[in-house]
Amino acid sequence: MNVGFGPGLIPAFVRVALDHPLPTLYDYRYPADVPAPQPGMLVRVPFGRRDVVGLVCEVSAHSDVPAGKLREVSAVCSACPPLSAQWLELAAFAAGYYQRGLGEVALPALPQALRDPSRWGRLLAPEERYRLLAAGREALPAALPERAQALRRLAQALVDAGELDVAAARSLHPKAAATLESWREAGWVAYERVEFGAASAAESAAAKAANAAQILASTPPVRVPVLSDEQTAAVESILAARGFAPFLLYGVTGSGKTEVYLRALAALLEREPHAQALVLVPEINLTPQFEAVFRARFAATLADDAIVSLHSGLAEGERARNWLAAHTGRARIVLGTRLAVLASLPRLAMLVVDEEHDPAYKQQEGLRYSARDLSIWRARQLGVPVVLGSATPSLESWWQAEQGRYTRLALERRAVADAVLPTVKLIDLEEERRRGRASFEGLSGPLVAALKAAFERGEQSLLFLNRRGYAPTLACDACGWVAGCPRCSAYVVLHKPERALRCHHCGWESRIPRSCPDCGNVDIAPMGRGTQRIEEALTSAVPGARVLRIDADSTRRKGSAQALFSDVHAGEVDILVGTQMIAKGHDFQRVSLVGVLNADNALFSHDFRAPERLFAQLIQVSGRAGRAGLPGTVLVQTRYPRHALYHALARHDYVGFANAQLAERRDAHLPPFVYQALLRAEGRTLEAALGFLAEAAGALSAIPSAGRVTVYDAVPLTIVKVMNVHRAQLLLESQSRAALQATLHAWQPALRALRGVLRWSVEVDPLDI
Ligand code: ADP
Ligand code: ZN
Ligand code: ZN
Repeated sequence: MNVGFGPGLIPAFVRVALDHPLPTLYDYRYPADVPAPQPGMLVRVPFGRRDVVGLVCEVSAHSDVPAGKLREVSAVCSACPPLSAQWLELAAFAAGYYQRGLGEVALPALPQALRDPSRWGRLLAPEERYRLLAAGREALPAALPERAQALRRLAQALVDAGELDVAAARSLHPKAAATLESWREAGWVAYERVEFGAASAAESAAAKAANAAQILASTPPVRVPVLSDEQTAAVESILAARGFAPFLLYGVTGSGKTEVYLRALAALLEREPHAQALVLVPEINLTPQFEAVFRARFAATLADDAIVSLHSGLAEGERARNWLAAHTGRARIVLGTRLAVLASLPRLAMLVVDEEHDPAYKQQEGLRYSARDLSIWRARQLGVPVVLGSATPSLESWWQAEQGRYTRLALERRAVADAVLPTVKLIDLEEERRRGRASFEGLSGPLVAALKAAFERGEQSLLFLNRRGYAPTLACDACGWVAGCPRCSAYVVLHKPERALRCHHCGWESRIPRSCPDCGNVDIAPMGRGTQRIEEALTSAVPGARVLRIDADSTRRKGSAQALFSDVHAGEVDILVGTQMIAKGHDFQRVSLVGVLNADNALFSHDFRAPERLFAQLIQVSGRAGRAGLPGTVLVQTRYPRHALYHALARHDYVGFANAQLAERRDAHLPPFVYQALLRAEGRTLEAALGFLAEAAGALSAIPSAGRVTVYDAVPLTIVKVMNVHRAQLLLESQSRAALQATLHAWQPALRALRGVLRWSVEVDPLDI
């Protein structure tokens, strides 16, 4: 298509960001016979000997690159509207702040379909596809002649995927369209055509409906409750906000924070008929529950496809369609996990970050961003409200509220009439032992008694243990051998149902040895306890109880977590055992007892954030008890019943705990009173990693702003070796965020010039030190 610019008028050059560590933009000539160049467009460009996809960041009439060296853009994605200037600014901010290349941030943030030029032509096109029917599954590919290999490939692809889109089919067989049509006549396949946008709703409509119905069947009927006074006040403050307005919604577990989001969003979307909202949740497993609640609530006011989800569990096609629905403004509410914070939302008018304290908002590889912090930045950029909700706000956010920078909205009571916060009791394991009271596989007498009693009353219990597997390792009493990973400086975890020893750091796996590999002793035994072992113990400790385990191992298959949680909601489980997966966000209606095992491990960690994290986890898991009016009890087994953290927990005293922690952090000069960054290095040897860090530290002396930055000694990581790679880190700290940022920025060229390690990376505002 010629857009009719005269020569000289066309900005003939574009500066393109590529998914590449260098912060440079690359100049290309822009062809005259395609739509006019605009920032935010995706283009295909030659790079070295390959073709890559890039993002146009600037257009210009000039280029400093000599004409002979300039290459030309080879394709333009015109099906999809360009990304907005504001989105480019967001990507540029994230790249600058987290010390990455712009393209390294922007391109991976896009769905795969946009980074594949072969699919550009069909991005917004209706999708045509054939779905395999039962008769087809029986007939294909056996009914085809042996020799018809291309046809058989086509049939196999259809059998494997259950469906085939027409374009994909054509690439497998030139006459695919006619063939599929004849199969349709034979009753083997069905034809479907789905308009863009409708697709997201239609694709898995059946599955989704079944899922939502399942979830809703087990939660109370959809009714709009009368807001409590506290909720009303919170909603009114949010709606009264004009411009950038950060809110910290501090609400105890079960206080109805979700209802506050729903009301505020409903009012906003009604007030502004095109406005969009972004709602972030920390865990993929929470998105179906949220989606069901949101769909039910907005069924009458929003079209079915106006609510979409974005998370890494979506099939690629669905993720692309949902992303495009957000990008084109069709989606009004986007529900997602941390990656959704980088979605393109041209009319974004409000952001919600539920459970804002959750470490899952921090991306732990590649671009190590905080989705919560970027949410705040986006809200400021756009001048809109952002609501951070939590029963245990991060100390960073709490401190902002203490200083009056965030408006605090408090919900101090549970929302459901009769529901009160559970009673927390500590079980003193030392005293149990002194008095010679029996315990069974780590379950103390009082805990077992309480589990039995709850079971007899027909109520559910939940046991929280933050350690998956059967036992943390396997050991030999005779010679002291302990099963370790050959590739990591870590023990391997015993997995009994899977009959394996497995390394949780690198995935190394082996069979369980019958005898000690060092001394031949056949009495090797599991050491310590994980969720699998507790699950096994419960079946004999509470005879007849239906026990279910939910952890990363029991939910590996797609959709299985959802099915397991549905069983809990449906009352088909008496005792639920699990890791932090069961602690977060779930609105269980029939849980009256929560047991906490092995929490002591985290009390004396060297990580200064460990108490904050433990307290949040315990409040969250305790919060699963007594939500619907059944009186709830929490039993915590501990050797340190006098520890201040447990006392604060027993009083549900987040405020006291947070203020005490903040005072300690202030005295110790720790975040949020200072800003930190880490340089991590991975080498073939520890010496290589430490040597790299020492040289890097040396290079700081040439940087003026580094005078206001404290540089600590390079140290090995706690688990120093993973996959035969040795890891070490260097901590930088400053009271001035600007000085730290300036230093990190000026440091980059020196870091890039250093050699001798396999990888290095900078992490800003690290959570694990
Ligand atoms: P939180 O996220 O604060 O832990 P939820 O939003 O899950 O709490 O709400 C807890 C329960 O209270 C839910 O079952 C919800 O339907 C119910 N609820 C919320 N607000 C009200 C209200 N105003 N009146 C009655 N029930 C409510
Ligand atoms: Zn031995
Ligand atoms: Zn390993």
